[in-house]
Amino acid sequence: MSLKVKCPRCKKEVSWKDNKWRPFCSEKCKMIDLGTWASEDFRISDDTDHLTIADNSIDDEELM
Ligand SMILES: [Zn+2]
Repeated sequence: MSLKVKCPRCKKEVSWKDNKWRPFCSEKCKMIDLGTWASEDFRISDDTDHLTIADNSIDDEELM
């Protein structure tokens, strides 16, 4: 009896046992999936509000 799983990236059927890249079929599919995650996380954490606040405080000091 051999358990088989489908790779989430390419839908290829691979053996669950002795598969170190599971649930993916290979290192390539695992890396593609991790890469997608990383780029989405980077986009969400884009925050430049603190730069605007810093500019305003410098202007106030110059006026005084
Ligand atoms: Zn795959």
